[in-house]
Amino acid sequence: MMNQKLTVLRLFSCLIFLASSNFASLFGQSPTGDTPQPPRKNIAVLLITGGCCHDYDFQSKAMQLAAQERGLPIDWTIVNQGGKGTKATIEFYNNPKWYEGFDVVIHNECFADTDDADYIRRITKPHYEGVNAIVIHCAMHTYRSASIDDWREFLGVTSRHHEHQSKYPVTVVKNDHPIMKGFPSDYKSAMDELYIIEKVWPNTTVLATSKSEKTGDEQPAFWVNQYGKGRVFGTTYGHSNDTFSDKVFLETLVNGIRWAAGR
Ligand SMILES: [Zn+2]
Repeated sequence: MMNQKLTVLRLFSCLIFLASSNFASLFGQSPTGDTPQPPRKNIAVLLITGGCCHDYDFQSKAMQLAAQERGLPIDWTIVNQGGKGTKATIEFYNNPKWYEGFDVVIHNECFADTDDADYIRRITKPHYEGVNAIVIHCAMHTYRSASIDDWREFLGVTSRHHEHQSKYPVTVVKNDHPIMKGFPSDYKSAMDELYIIEKVWPNTTVLATSKSEKTGDEQPAFWVNQYGKGRVFGTTYGHSNDTFSDKVFLETLVNGIRWAAGR
């Protein structure tokens, strides 16, 4: 009997302790804010870049500076491989676990004539399984020669050519998306190419468009895609160093990294 009483008493004291102690603080949350939160980990970003037609060193540096200036903490890994041609398989993907340890992979590469299906699927598979991505400009024409559609489905759009360079007005169609927050309604791109989108894939949400000066057709210019478990943000702009010096463009890219990383 005495033992039972003791047990009940102990249980009761335990409940009082739980109720009186800051229960939330046991889980690292203090409603009074007196328990400092551990600093959030930097976002691990892998930037794959290289190939034809663009100044990738300038573009890579511009993205790094833009994120830094906007206070987005990033640990960058930059892989600039494959030379300056249109056909290469880059060494980095020889490692079957090339994606490990990265929160976001930025594809800003330009290899239109690479068409090896096994190689392409080594890249798309981890994205399908949940590696989030940003895809920029010539990434849309990368693997254009391939017969398989995996890369295009990953991008969220199919494009095979572009129109002339101009300063294209951009119309936002999803004002409420976090990536487009604060995007000016009267924005025009820096001198850039207009990519023609043949197909918008079913899991793609177009965020903003630009109009062809030749046909008047609206072309998706910014979008998000859900590829399996992977989130993808894409833009067809990004040709010139002027674009990569444009504050609105860079701000949108940084928003895209933040969104892809789930921040
Ligand atoms: Zn270009």
